[in-house]
Amino acid sequence: MVVEILSVGTELLLGDILNTNAQYISKKAAQLGMASYYQTVVGDNMDRINSALEAAFERSDIVITTGGLGPTDDDLTKEAAAEFFKLDMELDDYSWNKIKKFFEARGVALSHGNKKQAYFPVGSVIIPNDNGTAPGCIIEQGGKRIIILPGPPKEMEPMFDKTVEPYLEQFSDQTIVSETLRLCGIGESSAAEKIRDLFSGSNPTVAPYAKEGEVIFRLTAKAGSHEEAQAMLEPLKGDIYGRLGEYIYGEGETSLELVVGNELISRNMSIAMAESCTGGILSARLINCPGISQVFMEGSVAYSNAAKMNSLGVKASTLEEFGAVSEETAIEMARGVAVKNGCRVGISTTGVAGPDGGSEDKPVGLVYIGLYMDGAEKVKKLTLTGSRERIRNQAAILALDFLRR
Ligand code: ATP
Ligand code: MG
Repeated sequence: MVVEILSVGTELLLGDILNTNAQYISKKAAQLGMASYYQTVVGDNMDRINSALEAAFERSDIVITTGGLGPTDDDLTKEAAAEFFKLDMELDDYSWNKIKKFFEARGVALSHGNKKQAYFPVGSVIIPNDNGTAPGCIIEQGGKRIIILPGPPKEMEPMFDKTVEPYLEQFSDQTIVSETLRLCGIGESSAAEKIRDLFSGSNPTVAPYAKEGEVIFRLTAKAGSHEEAQAMLEPLKGDIYGRLGEYIYGEGETSLELVVGNELISRNMSIAMAESCTGGILSARLINCPGISQVFMEGSVAYSNAAKMNSLGVKASTLEEFGAVSEETAIEMARGVAVKNGCRVGISTTGVAGPDGGSEDKPVGLVYIGLYMDGAEKVKKLTLTGSRERIRNQAAILALDFLRR
């Protein structure tokens, strides 16, 4: 069974509101394992709603509409469905009584248009609306099915959950299982390149997308049961781990700071941070992790050379000889903040965030991350691109990633 969403409302076309109804319904349909290939948005206009319905039923078995059930003359969805299925409209007494009570309870006068909300194409199954005046309906004819729902999400969503979802379950014979793998320290295109040959499969599938400094792979399998779908994902996952395992920091709903923070907590590794170019972003990210107070000692923003010397113990000679943006300074910052706090781990950032201040040997985007861990020192050089904001955010993310490894 192929399902299609038809969103009705001129305000959607004008960009006044976001089509959250289509998102809500498509997600549910996907969870039910129903195929869906098209979505349409159409304004409040009889001819255009009619032609959108014609087109939708050409290619799909079930059309779900939202919007256009209001009391005014421009609310036309039921009328268009009646025309499509060549049905008359009739008053549903039960709905009409409910609408009257709804208004009485609120002490508001009924308008002529409210009665229109109780009219449905003959033979409709009514979908009650507990949160508003416009009930929805389902019409079945010759293998075609239309499900008509109101526009306001507060009304549509409970109606969908209570009545439409159980109705649709009878047509679904598949379960969809999705998993996400989260990668850091590699760009979207490089990551995608490594698994390009896996994109062509139709079941299971893998799709990459980039989000705030990380790459996410969504793996999806369809099968008759949850267990079967899950079993289909395992080899695909194994394959991706084999190729990109070093970059995968987590699965599902998690974040880099949660993974890193929990690792530090579980290994009881106390940590302090010395930040120059990231200016506190790195500390703020790690402090997002609940429970981090067990190990997090200090996040110092040491921006000036004086602060680097006075509060972190960076040597004047180091700053003079190598400059503030250098491997040597990064390491002294990391060691300095760790020693000062008696921590096992110290991490630092120092770099040129731009847009000005770059030079030939130290261009904008050059960042060093210093890491001190149980007496050993490491440094990582980054060459980042983009705005000042992006460079600072990337530096913080890659510092967390450096810590993770
Ligand atoms: P009403 O009785 O409120 O007129 P209706 O069924 O006629 O209900 P519309 O007039 O199309 O629905 O939309 C009413 C309101 O519902 C819109 O102004 C908007 O706020 C919200 N809405 C409509 N369609 C959508 C949608 N696709 N996604 C999110 N919100 C929507
Ligand atoms: Mg309306």
